Amino acid sequence: MRVELDEKEEFPWAIMKDLADSDLFRIFIPEEYEGLGGGCLDLCLVVEELSRVCAGIAVSYAAVSLGVIPLLEYGTEEQKRKYLPDIADGKKLAAFAITEPTAGSDIGAIKTTAERVKEGYIINGTKQFITNGGEAEIYTVIALTDKARGARGASALLVEKDTPGFSFGKKEKKMGIRVSSTRELIFRNCLVPEENLIGREGMGFIITMKLFDQSRPGIGAQAVGLAQGALEAAVGYARQRIQFGHPIISLQAVQHMLADMAIQVEAARALVYAVARTVDSGARNVSEESAMAKVFASDVAMKVTTDAVQIFGGPGYMRDYPIEKMMRDAKITQIYEGTNQVLRNAIAIELRKRKGIRE
Ligand SMILES: Cc1cc2nc3c(=O)[nH]c(=O)nc-3n(C[C@H](O)[C@H](O)[C@H](O)COP(=O)(O)OP(=O)(O)OC[C@H]3O[C@@H](n4cnc5c(N)ncnc54)[C@H](O)[C@@H]3O)c2cc1C
Repeated sequence: MRVELDEKEEFPWAIMKDLADSDLFRIFIPEEYEGLGGGCLDLCLVVEELSRVCAGIAVSYAAVSLGVIPLLEYGTEEQKRKYLPDIADGKKLAAFAITEPTAGSDIGAIKTTAERVKEGYIINGTKQFITNGGEAEIYTVIALTDKARGARGASALLVEKDTPGFSFGKKEKKMGIRVSSTRELIFRNCLVPEENLIGREGMGFIITMKLFDQSRPGIGAQAVGLAQGALEAAVGYARQRIQFGHPIISLQAVQHMLADMAIQVEAARALVYAVARTVDSGARNVSEESAMAKVFASDVAMKVTTDAVQIFGGPGYMRDYPIEKMMRDAKITQIYEGTNQVLRNAIAIELRKRKGIRE
């Protein structure tokens, strides 16, 4: 089924309904808003399990939490009561939008504006590559409320799908996670009421950073799930593929590849869970650890899925098996929510600043 979904590139509404019926959208929402009150680790466990089978389904699910976390952290009671119960029920999906055509890694370069007027804010601009774009009902959008203040002039606003002036651009045709929807968001004189501001004006980047601290372990979990799925498929195939009169799993070259894959998956899982627990502990500065979990696990996913294709040999290269899809899907985990290069920069900056390291 995942192969069929991947080929059709259609948003998996039927599966989203199954996830809703299984109460999985309640996991990351507090009990007072119809949720189950879980934390980062609970979310990671769900994302990992979904990714073991299909990372495209997993990201469609996880992107809802991206749209929601700013609301959980900085939203008013009124905003939470208005939006969270429907999301917990799975009746509405959410999304988060900061990236623009000229502002990817350099999020400080965003140009979308939200001009303050008597009735609220008028948004103008285009967001690019937004997961759940077009499918979600609720969007957390980062826009400049004060262009002169640069990064300090960005704010987070909630925009509902049917707001006049808000439309969608083309759906991207992707290398992997094809079942997920990635679209442009277009704002042309889109008026949102004042009460849709999350937090205060000027907090847009603080909200974004806090969000990524909490969400990056989720990308790590997506990567762990992908790698685990690929490892299991490779072991299964190596057990039954006969060459030179024996299953290829009896060849030491293959055994060592599988062993290395298993070691990497376990190490990535341990790091992701540890960081998720740190996030759940309420620790204040988790940026470095969150980045490490994302970078390490995504590099593992890329390596393990590539090696899994190798173990499958020729059939691994064919679309009849899901293994080439896993390799395609893994690539994105090294790119979104901060590319691995940019996150390595951030980790190195923290190391340079760290006190207590002997000269
Ligand atoms: C499928 C998909 C889904 C996405 N979903 C969302 C979403 O839901 N919401 C959202 O807001 N965004 C989303 N994004 C955007 C994503 O986060 C960005 O694509 C990503 O941050 C990289 O930005 P960019 O594509 O503009 O690459 P660029 O920033 O142009 O980077 C290009 C290359 O240059 C390197 N580079 C850039 N700056 C540096 C530097 N300072 N040091 C070292 N190397 C550097 C990068 O690592 C990369 O290799 C999504 C993207 C994709 C592809």
